[in-house]
Amino acid sequence: MNIDVLAICSHPDDAELCCGGYLIKANRCGMKTAVLDLSSGDMGTRGTAQIRATEAKEGAKKLGLQQRLCLSIPDGHILHNEDNISKVATVIRQLKPKIILTPYWEDHHPDHANTSKIVKDAWWFAGVKKYPIEGETHRAERILYYISRYRIEPNFIFDISDVFAEKTSAVLCYGSQLYSKSSSEPITQISNPSFLEGWEAKQRALGSSIGVQYGEGYIMRTPVPLNDPRAVLLDVAGII
Ligand SMILES: [Zn+2]
Repeated sequence: MNIDVLAICSHPDDAELCCGGYLIKANRCGMKTAVLDLSSGDMGTRGTAQIRATEAKEGAKKLGLQQRLCLSIPDGHILHNEDNISKVATVIRQLKPKIILTPYWEDHHPDHANTSKIVKDAWWFAGVKKYPIEGETHRAERILYYISRYRIEPNFIFDISDVFAEKTSAVLCYGSQLYSKSSSEPITQISNPSFLEGWEAKQRALGSSIGVQYGEGYIMRTPVPLNDPRAVLLDVAGII
């Protein structure tokens, strides 16, 4: 199956937290979407790989994905090396995405930063005929880098106000990672009770800068290409 939008992420909850709005809206407008998780999140402080796999399946349903795949690269050891580039390039050839979503290349988590570098190289080599992997060559038209923890100025902000509730419900599938009164597992950054408030506040701030309620910020390595004069318009007033 050819996929329109493929999110390539380090850990099972990354897609829901960082680019869930884009994936839900892409699905709504008839695009085929998929997520490739590079690891199963097996080194996470809370939960187990099995619990996280079940949560990832639920998250996939909420995002409306056609497919969710996992390469099972050991969590915490997602290294920018030839082996991992080949694995990701093989999946790119299989799914033939037009758009790839992946983390911005500087991030507090080494797995996220390395995922970004792996994806950039895999994107290139998936399109190189003599690169020694299976499948027909393919090169996606765009890589959009999503923002995780660092405060990065986006190139464009995507209005996700109309799907924010669904995005939140996809994030809430990860019960093992989030705050729960009854959990006796150690507290982590994400299971801190204030995590979801901060997560929401960042999206409110991005949304407010383009005159909408909630936004997701993205970076491209090139300027954002437009060929329709109406493409810069949102149905909001007073933004110049
Ligand atoms: Zn992550």
